[in-house]
Amino acid sequence: MSDCLFCKIAAGQIPSNKVYEDDEFVAFHDIRPKAEVHLLVIPKLHVASLAECGTEHEAMLGKLLLLAPKLAREQGIGHGFQTRIHTGAAGGQEVFHLHLHVIGNRP
Ligand code: AMP
Repeated sequence: MSDCLFCKIAAGQIPSNKVYEDDEFVAFHDIRPKAEVHLLVIPKLHVASLAECGTEHEAMLGKLLLLAPKLAREQGIGHGFQTRIHTGAAGGQEVFHLHLHVIGNRP
């Protein structure tokens, strides 16, 4: 989507503090961190929210979740971290491109 902030970040058109990238996902530091480590993991594929996901997204969602402990370990918060997905404006979602928050403090 041409006007989607996270699509632009995924495409490198808007700078981000990136910590991970592969063919399907990008992870970067949240611009307003809620803890010492606050990452956002996004699929490169534009999906507006978890509510828009269907069975065709099963594999992507599984890979998205599995990235959380891997990136948490790499960031020094593998011992404990929070994962959050806000869905819809009423669920606190501000950016309408599916993303997983990975949040934690280093020991
Ligand atoms: P959500 O409420 O789940 O939609 O969260 C969106 C998150 O994106 C918020 O925590 C914002 O701080 C974060 N955010 C917004 N713009 C940027 C940006 N340009 N780079 C990194 N994080 C951003």
